[in-house]
Amino acid sequence: MCYGAPYADEGKVGSRHMNSRTHMLVGAAASLALLEPTGASACLIDVAGGLLGGWICDIDVSSKSAVKDYFFGVDILVPLVAIALIDHFLDLGVAGLVLNRMGPVATVGAAAFVVLAVLGSQWKRLCHHRTFMHSFLAVVLFSAPLWLVFPQVVPPFAIGMLLHVALDVTNKKGVQVLFPLSPRFCLRLFRSDGRVDKGLRLVALVALGVLLCRLGIA
Ligand SMILES: [Zn+2]
Repeated sequence: MCYGAPYADEGKVGSRHMNSRTHMLVGAAASLALLEPTGASACLIDVAGGLLGGWICDIDVSSKSAVKDYFFGVDILVPLVAIALIDHFLDLGVAGLVLNRMGPVATVGAAAFVVLAVLGSQWKRLCHHRTFMHSFLAVVLFSAPLWLVFPQVVPPFAIGMLLHVALDVTNKKGVQVLFPLSPRFCLRLFRSDGRVDKGLRLVALVALGVLLCRLGIA
């Protein structure tokens, strides 16, 4: 366990945190492996939830670069659009399931989710990298409104977030998992932006492909 790592040099895209694509791929592959969805639409939901959960923790990174912020946004936008297109052209019905739930409750949930995301990325007191957005509290607070929008996506989303936090704990930088409590945890096993990150990304990509083939969607 490590304590009290300084904030000043944290949160720089590409230098102090694992690649967002690594977290997303790990979240998606682990969701398929753990939840074992049956049917193509359930697979798509689990992949989408795992990708989003793995991605969202790092919205607390302050890159100070519009280009890096743009590509960070593209990282989640591209796969989600691809999933929507697959759903549309294969007529899997996921969009219909989401639209059928649209109403006052789902709208409140969506609004609460967006407000939380804005707070997590912008509110200075919370937005230090690897604090609120990398905590069990955030997993619960983000999962609750998402449940109001589309409950099926919550399990893979939570898996994605939890694995993101777990992977970051293996790095040398501390993670405030129990936020708002102050202890920061890290195992100091490897650098967040080194070969292990690249290797893990490749393994997760292969695992995702194998799982999708095994589950009959690819
Ligand atoms: Zn992170």
